[in-house]
Amino acid sequence: MAAPPGPFVTTSTRTFDVVIIGAGIIGLTIARQFLLGSELSVAVVDKAAPCSGATGAGSLTVGRTREESVTLEKKVNRLREAGVRAEYLSSHDLRLKEPALDVGEDGGAALLPDDSQLDAQRTVAFILKGNREFVSKGRYAEFFHDPVTGLLRSNDHGKVEAVQTSKNTLYCKKGVIVAAGCWTGSLMHDLLRGSDIALDLPVKPRKGHLLVLENFSPFSLNHGLMEAGYLDHLPKTADLQNYASGMADREQNLSVSMTATMDVVGNLLLGSSRQFAGFGTDMDESIVNHIWTRAGEFFPKLKQLSLQDFTKDRHVRVGLRPYVPDGKPLIGPIPALMNVFIAAGHEGSGLSMAMGTAEMVSDMVLGRPGIVDSTAFAVQGRVS
Ligand SMILES: Cc1cc2nc3c(=O)[nH]c(=O)nc-3n(C[C@H](O)[C@H](O)[C@H](O)COP(=O)(O)OP(=O)(O)OC[C@H]3O[C@@H](n4cnc5c(N)ncnc54)[C@H](O)[C@@H]3O)c2cc1C
Repeated sequence: MAAPPGPFVTTSTRTFDVVIIGAGIIGLTIARQFLLGSELSVAVVDKAAPCSGATGAGSLTVGRTREESVTLEKKVNRLREAGVRAEYLSSHDLRLKEPALDVGEDGGAALLPDDSQLDAQRTVAFILKGNREFVSKGRYAEFFHDPVTGLLRSNDHGKVEAVQTSKNTLYCKKGVIVAAGCWTGSLMHDLLRGSDIALDLPVKPRKGHLLVLENFSPFSLNHGLMEAGYLDHLPKTADLQNYASGMADREQNLSVSMTATMDVVGNLLLGSSRQFAGFGTDMDESIVNHIWTRAGEFFPKLKQLSLQDFTKDRHVRVGLRPYVPDGKPLIGPIPALMNVFIAAGHEGSGLSMAMGTAEMVSDMVLGRPGIVDSTAFAVQGRVS
């Protein structure tokens, strides 16, 4: 996505309370939290533009086997115990709610009536607009197309004084937040090269394709849908055997889980793939075909159609999810650099976890007791 016009700043030395590296959903939401919830000034730096990383792609979670249905029933019970409205639907009930969907007799679904759908690009546009209202008050600035190249450390080596970018030196009084998505590990590695700190953050890119069929008319959907397997962040080698084409590379651990949503203008968004294929974001037509085939297993109507029918009315979004092997994002200070905070590794849940992450990070920087216990997300103890 091209950068919307904004208050870009070039070649300067400036001072802010907080400098945030990364203008994805996580970095921008953290900026928003500081702007609305404190008096601090904030700079957001990005090597490219907002939405150029992973962020650019009410719910029914559906199962097709007895085993998945039992798992979903248990999930509904756990959510209810936690006070969340949730309902288990049998395949018969599901047919009434989503007539285009067929999960077979053994299937079922977890319905979360209070869930909402989020359009990533519209959400980012909304957050950017809100953040920019603080420009005139001198509390917000953006440095886009300006990659971070170094950290300037104070003499006591326990703190970072400034973030060096290709064009600017940004001094930070309170802290630096690194929200660089799947680039966070390699960026920190580069920034700390030659220093006395060895930090190996286990964040790596997990590529995802999303197929968008514009003005889709063959059927409509009443909920955001995903198959139960989508929630499982762990690589699944078993999925490879499901594909006959032989293109699935075992090293890449390719899996495709059905997700289907309809946006407000009537586009059908079909997802999505997961694979480890480095930092490249080229579209792979064979993966798009897998997504189409998988969706056809849930929507009989699609089986009567051909993907070729949509050649003129389709596009494909490709993004790199920031994957961490234990499935939990890294949120917290780097032990040896106590004013540098990591907020990365949200894999396939960064859109839903952005607000919570932002609250946690801002409480940490401001020294407030957090509402959420952040121990499980701490950097300390989870990196080598
Ligand atoms: C196909 C697909 C479907 C998804 N579906 C969902 C979903 O249904 N629900 C959900 O919650 N999440 C979903 N996600 C996941 C979600 O998109 C990510 O978790 C989220 O976007 C990660 O945001 P981020 O801000 O951490 O990273 P990014 O959006 O990748 O942002 C990181 C930013 O850091 C910048 N950067 C990198 N290096 C530097 C540097 N040296 N200097 C300055 N800036 C730098 C990059 O340019 C980039 O803009 C999906 C992802 C994909 C790919």
